[in-house]
Amino acid sequence: MLAAMPLSPSRTVAELKELRELTGDENGAQRVAWTETWERARAWLREKLDELPLEHEIDEAGNQWWTLRGSSDRSVLIGGHIDSVPNGGWLDGALNVVAGVEVMRRLAEDGEPAATVRLVDWADEEGARFGRSLFGSSAAAGSMADQAELRERRDADGVALPDALGEHGVDLDRALEARRQLEGAAAYLELHIEQGPVLEAMELPLGVVLGTFGVERHQITFRGQAAHAGSTPMDRRRDALAGAAKLELEIREIAKRTGDGAVCTMGGVVTRPGIVTSVVETAECLLDQRHLDAAKLAEMLSNAEAASRRFAQEEDVEVEWERIWNIEPILFDEGLIELADEAVREVAGRSHRLPSGPLHDAAEVARAGVPTVMLFVQSLRGLSHTKLEDTKEEHLELSVQALDRLTTKALEAFG
Ligand SMILES: [Zn+2]
Repeated sequence: MLAAMPLSPSRTVAELKELRELTGDENGAQRVAWTETWERARAWLREKLDELPLEHEIDEAGNQWWTLRGSSDRSVLIGGHIDSVPNGGWLDGALNVVAGVEVMRRLAEDGEPAATVRLVDWADEEGARFGRSLFGSSAAAGSMADQAELRERRDADGVALPDALGEHGVDLDRALEARRQLEGAAAYLELHIEQGPVLEAMELPLGVVLGTFGVERHQITFRGQAAHAGSTPMDRRRDALAGAAKLELEIREIAKRTGDGAVCTMGGVVTRPGIVTSVVETAECLLDQRHLDAAKLAEMLSNAEAASRRFAQEEDVEVEWERIWNIEPILFDEGLIELADEAVREVAGRSHRLPSGPLHDAAEVARAGVPTVMLFVQSLRGLSHTKLEDTKEEHLELSVQALDRLTTKALEAFG
């Protein structure tokens, strides 16, 4: 039977532009979660799916679900997030859901699928307003364990997180009830822009994601002695900034030596007293280290720790480490990686497997034990979280086709 409504990848591109018009301005996308613009985007999404025979619900964490019942209760999930950072790009998160809409249209037209298919728009992936990423997906995954802390969080205007969520019908105390959504999930598929420069450098439109990097984040404080910049001889100083500066250069060598995509970043150093007439007494550094291999990540951390103690000794200062946050590497499902590879080769000729530096909702779903895979589509100049974020339209269209192929393959495997 010829489908009356075949897949139309160009419609996805047109709809993404429509969404950009509706929810962006001259500075970029403004779909920050728990705001009116975000609600406008979510309502727009509902309208797009209105005419299809889907069940719709919003769960206790604010995640929005559309379900196409299949002959089996087991479900294949397609996910994304319509929220953006302030002044964000038009594709981060939105491509995933809008491409998912197109796949749902094609499936609904083809009649009852072999397994149930569900599209989810995760709530607050970016954490832009309250600094808490992956809100909805971590609730559904059951890994959210920081409600006590979230209750105290406030945005830049002093609005408490529970109050902001309440305005959008979400009760923080009940968010974890969203866990039931992943029951019976056989596979989770997510398409996303790469947000990095790897595929563009390889001249490949699409790639398959192996998993998300493990992350170690620490605050490292070097403590010396404030002393007068004029009266303290150079060999008598206990300069905390000297320790921090040596460490910043060393973490780059550590990442280089470790290889396999290792990255280390010192994202900030705050010095005190921070005046031109004093030797630095304290230097607080923020360090972020990432790797796909847990053992290598642990090794990078211990190398950085050892180096910091060596530099502290050399500079006659003290050093103290405090973990801010960490997450283990999350590896995607091998079977689904194979299927994704096939799908990419079918639509683009060549495929490539790569890790993801940024975290994604897919990592939370995989953590909950649902077999998961992601597809990346090339990002131009590797830019994201800026209005300059872009992807060639022909590549966007290929990505919709690849997601559609992958969904079909997952339905065959799990239906
Ligand atoms: Zn995203």
